[in-house]
Amino acid sequence: MFLAEIQQPVSRLKGAGPRTAELLSHLGIRTMADLLRHYPRDWDDRQTVQPLARAVPEGRAATLARITGHQWIGRPRGPRGRGGGGPTLKVLVEDETGKGALLCFGRNFLADKLPVGSSILLTGYFQYRYQELQSSSFVFESIQREPADPPLPEILPRTREFGRILPVYPLTQGLTQGGLRRLMEQALREYAPTLTEELPASLIESKGFLSQTQALHALHFPRDPAQREEARRRIIYQELFHLELVIARRAYRERNHPQPARTLPRSLQERLRGELPFSLTKDQERAVEEITADMERPRPMNRLLQGDVGCGKTLAAFLCALPVIEAGGQAALMAPTELLARQHADTAARLLAPLGVRVALFSGQVSGDPRRLLLQQLAAGEIDLIIGTHALFSKETGYRRLELIIVDEQHRFGVAQRKALAAKGVEPDLLMMTATPIPRSLALTAYGNLDVSVIRSMPPGRKPVKTRVVPPGKAEDMYGFIRREMAAGHQAYLVYPLISDSPPGGDPGSPGADSPPAKSLKNAEAMYRRLSGEIFSEYRGGLIHSRLPEEEKRETMEAFAAGEKDYLVATSVVEVGVDVANTAVMVVEHAERFGLSALHQLRGRVGRGSAESWCFLVPGAEITEDGQKRLEVMQRRSSGFELAEEDLRIRGPGELTGVRQSGYLRLRLAHLVRDLPVLQEARQDAFALTAADPGLLAPENAPLRELLNRAPPFQEDLLSGG
Ligand code: ADP
Ligand code: MG
Repeated sequence: MFLAEIQQPVSRLKGAGPRTAELLSHLGIRTMADLLRHYPRDWDDRQTVQPLARAVPEGRAATLARITGHQWIGRPRGPRGRGGGGPTLKVLVEDETGKGALLCFGRNFLADKLPVGSSILLTGYFQYRYQELQSSSFVFESIQREPADPPLPEILPRTREFGRILPVYPLTQGLTQGGLRRLMEQALREYAPTLTEELPASLIESKGFLSQTQALHALHFPRDPAQREEARRRIIYQELFHLELVIARRAYRERNHPQPARTLPRSLQERLRGELPFSLTKDQERAVEEITADMERPRPMNRLLQGDVGCGKTLAAFLCALPVIEAGGQAALMAPTELLARQHADTAARLLAPLGVRVALFSGQVSGDPRRLLLQQLAAGEIDLIIGTHALFSKETGYRRLELIIVDEQHRFGVAQRKALAAKGVEPDLLMMTATPIPRSLALTAYGNLDVSVIRSMPPGRKPVKTRVVPPGKAEDMYGFIRREMAAGHQAYLVYPLISDSPPGGDPGSPGADSPPAKSLKNAEAMYRRLSGEIFSEYRGGLIHSRLPEEEKRETMEAFAAGEKDYLVATSVVEVGVDVANTAVMVVEHAERFGLSALHQLRGRVGRGSAESWCFLVPGAEITEDGQKRLEVMQRRSSGFELAEEDLRIRGPGELTGVRQSGYLRLRLAHLVRDLPVLQEARQDAFALTAADPGLLAPENAPLRELLNRAPPFQEDLLSGG
């Protein structure tokens, strides 16, 4: 039986009544398979001697100690006190290296078990408090010790409570380590004595792995640290190997999908290229050609267009839409905000309408007759390129020939949303754009079967944005600097985490939105009043946030883009995509409340023209040391790629790519960043195996074939690029 197939409920275990079963379910544990794969987050090593003198640096002691005295501390606690009232026993101990004190809260009965003059094996967590080494969390075992006895490291392994390495599990309120350990031991004994191998024998042998059963036992209750490492090595490899096997098989199938290709006409593409006031960068050229060629292939395109903020992805995407449109198909461009959709629609109208392309903006604001007309035209194929937000895949939206879907800022959308849009066509091509690069480790997994086009270079003439963390007390200097910039004809954004001082707080999706609106946080409305009233009173300002009417937002944005406003006070609505080249200053207040990629996006709003540009990150008063560090990272790094790697390290993969929403990366022990070398090894092995035996028909690959049939570790259809 495969581990995942042990579907008996945990309530079969002795000691797992309805209440325990309920508690376990909070940890996602319902079956024996769930329980056995609830891996320790750490181990309590009671095998390695830690004398009292080392207890603080090591976090705990494990030593042979002598009881030197009893004391009673504290006042009577009254009838409801933890110990039933009265003072608490304190047992004084010492070993060869130092002295300590055991606080027996609620355990005064230990006075008899720990008589003065006796010896114990002792392990526990110690802290320095009140000038002594104290522990209130300890276990012990009485021991008779003769002078001729062998040294401690030799006896420890032969004792009952000691000499073991115990698992430390993620818990939930109401469960104890001891309780969970007992359930685990029982489950291992009764349900996991002989597990079916989940790797081919040749791999197990060549890598020198423990068997599946051994590895599982040793991960929970290792004999010694070396065996624990062996168990971890096998299980981490195995998780990553299974993941890569699923990806390799999918890639293999897609590559061997024989169907004739089509040829797309490129004359519209040529014309637009000829009419641009500048020439495309080499990377843009290459990306456009790669994407166009991919759309000519018979299978639907599944491609990511990756490039740092401001590299010109939008233009590349428009160029790619033209061949599809010229061939009679329709294209849809989905953007995460109305603001951005409108901006794209304006650009498209300017660039594409002269070529005869029929462009429309599908705003969520459009209703009534205009909306009905729009839907009608879309269904009749009278619109070639539709640009909008979620409205693009609402129920009543239908297309005549939707052949290309472009998703801008793809990390802002979930899998379900992309699928809903894709369902509006017949296997349409999918082009996802992102400035949040997929780190190498994820590119090898989630996006393993996703093709990627990269734009590395920036349009000529761009200078990197200078980033500064503004220390408290330097705000005046900063305002002075911005005044000089505005006097020189440049524009500025000032971004705040909240809209106003009244809840609900920020924009949806802004970092302020999740946390209670703290009084100490600056907000856009109040700062707009202050800036326009005093600080920048001689300049023209605008205010923009998600709670303003769409019409007002549009007017403000247009005025700003036309240079009729010198500065724009905003929330994170300007985070993505907004493109006003004359803006040279970006100020982000309470910058520590924004994630690294959000900060990078905000910074990307400037540095789009040829002028020197600045990004000022202003920390709040309550910034933590960690927050300070992240802002310094921003100051140091200008590449989105490096920032994404840092973000992944800090926050894990879920946040970064929408991976969590899809729920497919159910790695239990492996970690994509930490275990990157193993991931690469597993990937190589999985791809080699798939190439040699695509059907997994060789007898020695039978375990894998069976595993994929009976207990697939990863859902294949969720691996379609997030
Ligand atoms: P992003 O990749 O962040 O979406 P945009 O598509 O917003 O970048 O493009 C940034 C700006 O650069 C736009 O104003 C666009 O017109 C301009 N741009 C794009 N390609 C070029 C180029 N090859 N030369 C000069 N400017 C360009
Ligand atoms: Mg963009």
